[in-house]
Amino acid sequence: MYLKSIEIQGFKSFANKIKFEFHDGITGIVGPNGSGKSNVADAVRWVLGEQKIKQLRGSKMEDVIFSGTEMRKPLGFAFVAITLDNSDKKLPIDYDEVTVSRRLFRSGESEYMINGTVCRLKDVHELFYDTGIGKEGYSIIGQGQIDKILSGKPEERRELFDEAAGIVKFKRRKNETLKKLNDEEQNLVRVEDILSELE
Ligand code: ATP
Repeated sequence: MYLKSIEIQGFKSFANKIKFEFHDGITGIVGPNGSGKSNVADAVRWVLGEQKIKQLRGSKMEDVIFSGTEMRKPLGFAFVAITLDNSDKKLPIDYDEVTVSRRLFRSGESEYMINGTVCRLKDVHELFYDTGIGKEGYSIIGQGQIDKILSGKPEERRELFDEAAGIVKFKRRKNETLKKLNDEEQNLVRVEDILSELE
């Protein structure tokens, strides 16, 4: 699995539609200060479902939408799509190529898609569990993140190892099941109460 392309439109400094295509080997993005290099990494974080605007270096989610310049009016929406080669089927989906996209309008309306089909944020998270790519993954290492990992709490560091070991999805499912069990137990208590009232 590898990143084939990133398409960006209206996201941060990228007003016009732009497509980055990646090939074999290492790709570096170079440019003067403030030219938008980090915005490319932000776009990838964002499309993977990042909800914390601080991680995207803004103060409110609308800040990711192109806010205009002296020469150009602000835009009404931000759009990012990443396409991954999945011929090795590392992603649990039966396609050789997977495109995940996210769109946000100024009204706050937003939409995620996997291969052109509208989906929930949860579906995007589930697609990337245990691949290292998800928003909690280690595929994007930001400035200062290594220090944060080294000086972080053991539980936080553990999350990284869980992801690498491929057990995050099982842990999430376990928690979901425990929650359902708990809800059912509460329901049973209620049913027993009603039954005892009727007796
Ligand atoms: P450095 O080398 O200094 O780290 P960089 O190339 O990584 O810089 P970025 O931090 O990616 O640059 O981009 C910063 C630029 O993006 C700034 O000029 C900022 O005005 C612009 N920018 C950020 N958000 C928006 C937005 N919503 N609309 C328009 N421009 C934006």
